Amino acid sequence: MTERIVIVGAGQAGFQLVLSLRLAGYGGAIVLVGDEPGLPYQRPPLSKAYLLDKLPLSELVFRPEDFFVENRIQRIAATATAIDRKSRRVLLDRGDAVEYDRLVLAMGAYRRELRVEGADLERVHGLATLGDADRLKSALRNGCRQTVIIGAGFIGLEFASVARHLGLDVTVVDAASRAMVRAVSPAVSAYFEAHHSQQGTRLLFGEGVGRITGLGGTVTGVETSSGQLLPADCVVTGIGVIPNDVLARDCGLEVDNGIIVDGQLATGDQNIFAIGDCCNFLFGPAGTRCRLESVQNATDQARLLAARLAKGEHAQYSAVPWFWSDQGNLKLQIAGLAAGCDEFVELREANGLSVLCFRKGVLAAVESINRPADHMAARRLLASVGRRPTPAEAGRDGFVLKRFTADATAQNMTE
Ligand SMILES: Cc1cc2nc3c(=O)[nH]c(=O)nc-3n(C[C@H](O)[C@H](O)[C@H](O)COP(=O)(O)OP(=O)(O)OC[C@H]3O[C@@H](n4cnc5c(N)ncnc54)[C@H](O)[C@@H]3O)c2cc1C
Repeated sequence: MTERIVIVGAGQAGFQLVLSLRLAGYGGAIVLVGDEPGLPYQRPPLSKAYLLDKLPLSELVFRPEDFFVENRIQRIAATATAIDRKSRRVLLDRGDAVEYDRLVLAMGAYRRELRVEGADLERVHGLATLGDADRLKSALRNGCRQTVIIGAGFIGLEFASVARHLGLDVTVVDAASRAMVRAVSPAVSAYFEAHHSQQGTRLLFGEGVGRITGLGGTVTGVETSSGQLLPADCVVTGIGVIPNDVLARDCGLEVDNGIIVDGQLATGDQNIFAIGDCCNFLFGPAGTRCRLESVQNATDQARLLAARLAKGEHAQYSAVPWFWSDQGNLKLQIAGLAAGCDEFVELREANGLSVLCFRKGVLAAVESINRPADHMAARRLLASVGRRPTPAEAGRDGFVLKRFTADATAQNMTE
């Protein structure tokens, strides 16, 4: 009998897995279960080009309908509601079930809801799905002049750039002390804060949200925790996401900020795997636990798992994490993981900045703003086993990351 792989979640990781399985020559049956309407699509443009009408829906989707037919991918539009591990079946909300030999959970993460009075008013938007983006787009084109954005993370600030571009009055509120605080160094926060202020965006840090005010069911503003009243005819929240791990927890799999998997992306059940935003994986030689929300992580994990499921390869997941964010004319690119870094060296030039982030003296991440050559060099360097610059070396006048990487790579090859 033909083997069947069932994938729950038809987003970035689920789609990449389908693609990579067929590219690797997998001949069994593939079933892709997804709870969003339409074809699988990429999310990053939702807070960028798609809102500005610079990317049509036909280019937002990964592949047209034909691809799924030609590659014998059975798509099921339904929500998976339970997993019966004994009978190896995934139960669907429409009442039936689908049997699997191997099951991959690629369910991503869902938007954290703001729990304050007024959060359910009309024209209070989140931005995680195509449906969210379409609703926001419609508000932007229908009289929205003043927006308050709650959360100065990547999505909030990307939207701030879009809103300023469209001529809206923009205020960003965040309880934290600086922009993108969980993800970037203080120098990168400061760079982006200066940029957004220059663009005319008002930034309020150290301010929580007391309530959202409204009239006749529609939003009129935001009252901050210190009592400031910020008028708005449209509010956007971007306060993070929560991994979709309930399905796994309910069938007895271990979860802790995501579905727990080993270094090869397997759960405690040898027939069930998890990839992308929903999984908490073992990473690096030190075996640190990690959950990432990025396209790179979703696609690299899908590729690694496809090689295992299609060809029986058993590699450890060790891809260097990288990420990008576009805000106006600034492109931020991050290679590596900056969490826990305690020393930073800045490489500045007129229109850009790179920050080398060190943990206990060892290079752990490089953040680059409009310096793509530094980003590419950093990815090469962090992926190699060769020499890394010390903070003292990186801080010397004339240090060039690209040159250092080329020298370190050449040296590595001759050893
Ligand atoms: C607005 C926005 C901008 C972003 N920008 C960037 C960026 O610039 N750079 C970057 O690297 N990353 C960016 N990201 C993050 C990136 O898109 C995610 O990390 C990536 O999509 C994760 O892929 P995934 O497959 O794990 O999850 P997703 O792509 O979220 O897919 C998961 C899918 O599973 C479905 N699902 C969940 N539960 C069930 C169920 N029970 N049954 C059936 N289906 C289910 C979900 O509805 C969803 O369709 C952005 C995300 C957003 C929302």
